[in-house]
Amino acid sequence: MIVVAVIGVFGALIGSFLNVVIYRVPLGRSVVAPASACGQCGHPIRWYDNIPVISWLALRGRCRDCGAHISVRYPLVELAGAVAFVFVALRFLPGIVSATSVMALVAGILALVGYLYFVAISLALALIDLDTQRLPNVLVLPSYAVAAVTLGASSIIGGSLPALLPAAVGGVGLFLVYLTLASAWRGGMGFGDVKLAGVIGIYLGWLGWDVLAVGALAAFLLGGVFGVILLVSRSAGGKTAVPFGPWMLGGAWVGILGGHEIAAWYLALFGLGVS
Ligand SMILES: [Zn+2]
Repeated sequence: MIVVAVIGVFGALIGSFLNVVIYRVPLGRSVVAPASACGQCGHPIRWYDNIPVISWLALRGRCRDCGAHISVRYPLVELAGAVAFVFVALRFLPGIVSATSVMALVAGILALVGYLYFVAISLALALIDLDTQRLPNVLVLPSYAVAAVTLGASSIIGGSLPALLPAAVGGVGLFLVYLTLASAWRGGMGFGDVKLAGVIGIYLGWLGWDVLAVGALAAFLLGGVFGVILLVSRSAGGKTAVPFGPWMLGGAWVGILGGHEIAAWYLALFGLGVS
């Protein structure tokens, strides 16, 4: 479908912008000015050398001016943006295509926009957390407002007000769960994780109780498996700070993209299938 391809290209462009966000936000620098320049020679990057993925391949990962190595992470983040946007489009477009009224159409588009925003911020926060062990407020806190506006308006316009209950419970609930964990296990989880948990809870809960449960638990499964691998490989001691944000976000996306299916499969294991 051509719409999916267009959203994928848009995702690559957003990925290109996320590279700037990931690099500059932790340094407290503006993401709009100055324009991107080579980190080595300072020469501004020409527009045709700033085409996602393609320019990096064409330049074989080197600056056109000084030949400095350009990290493969830049095209990978752009590629991740494209892939992530395609997954979100495939998840939310069916609801838009099958809309039978203008209101339902607008509601579907608002939800798509809300989750595209969330996948973009997820990529940025996961990489910033890996780089700096921080989840900047300047990215996390506005996400509450974006979630409230896009998902709230979608529910009101689309007449799906009941979805707001699990969204609110998810937001407050996950915030409190992580607040408890952060207080009980100092050094393991930070207050940045707590603030992010509220955002994740809203986005998960809006899609249903099953998605909320799967997404919240998947974070601990992913984080736990990774933590055990780290301990076994002895590259982390008991006190090494392991960022938990990437696992929270990874788990959230497992829930958003596959939560209904995983919950149904899990319940069916115990003969509790609901159709
Ligand atoms: Zn250069």
